[in-house]
Amino acid sequence: MSSEPTNEELWRAVISGENPVWRKGWRLRRMIPSTHRCKNCNAPFDGIGALFMRLTGRGTYNRNPRFCDF
Ligand SMILES: [Zn+2]
Repeated sequence: MSSEPTNEELWRAVISGENPVWRKGWRLRRMIPSTHRCKNCNAPFDGIGALFMRLTGRGTYNRNPRFCDF
């Protein structure tokens, strides 16, 4: 019996929003005003918050503009 989660458990946690790494700061990023946001983590893609998010590695993903590249 291993204590590491299987791939299925990992993806279930990410998709259902239970993964603490992906959820960390979700409410904080929601308070930053913006019209376009990442569908996963609420990172703002325009306005003053976008500059800060790009610096922290949450800029717009170039293959899908609905998500960040975190
Ligand atoms: Zn994101």
